[in-house]
Amino acid sequence: MFKLYTVYAFLFALLLINISGCNRSLNKLNKIDISNVTKISAVTLTPYPTSIAVVVNKKYYMPVNYVPKDLVYPNVPFLFKEKIEKREMRMEAAQALEKLFAAAKNDGIYLSGVSAYRSYATQEALFNQYVKRDGFAKARTYSAIPGTSEHQTGLAIDVSGINGICAAESCFANSKEAAWLKKNASNYGFIVRYPLGKENITGYKYEPWHIRYVGSSDSKAIQSRGITLEEYLHVVPVSDVSKYKKDFH
Ligand SMILES: [Zn+2]
Repeated sequence: MFKLYTVYAFLFALLLINISGCNRSLNKLNKIDISNVTKISAVTLTPYPTSIAVVVNKKYYMPVNYVPKDLVYPNVPFLFKEKIEKREMRMEAAQALEKLFAAAKNDGIYLSGVSAYRSYATQEALFNQYVKRDGFAKARTYSAIPGTSEHQTGLAIDVSGINGICAAESCFANSKEAAWLKKNASNYGFIVRYPLGKENITGYKYEPWHIRYVGSSDSKAIQSRGITLEEYLHVVPVSDVSKYKKDFH
């Protein structure tokens, strides 16, 4: 187990070093002994990648090669027609999503999927594009470093209204669809994963469109207590991400 952990820490260090367009922050990282990387950036391989309650954030990484075994296409509308990777979700989450969309429809709220599963390779390609355009420091403020995206679990999906207005953008917060999700998602096993005012814990600003399947008993408990998945599972908050930024940027 310890050996495996070391291997992932080493792979992650290599990944950071290899990201193109890296600036002085990474040059500095180059000089750091690899055994210190885990301590400084608090990189940890998430212990239960296949669990419905898996924690993936800026501290807890998915294994590089992890692909869920039970990906399916949920039978709900998406903003695109193609049957491609980003339409997939794990079976249990997909079935719950179908119920959620149906319930919303009953309330006159017409939802659409924007983006669900994203493989490590896709996230890596996406992130590298952003790094090329904006540099590493800026890219990591709005895009997940490969391995840290919850979309890799197959349990998360970005949702918009059927017209796609403000899809995965902060203006979605003012929509009736966002209000419905905030109030009702937990009844179907989902949580709004990055709530307002919890950035120090989740590591992300408010994302009213990103919902995460955790199962309905946990989603209801999280919702009723007004807390995050990190708080619910007593996982260390991502609050040292800001310290990490200070150290390296
Ligand atoms: Zn998302």
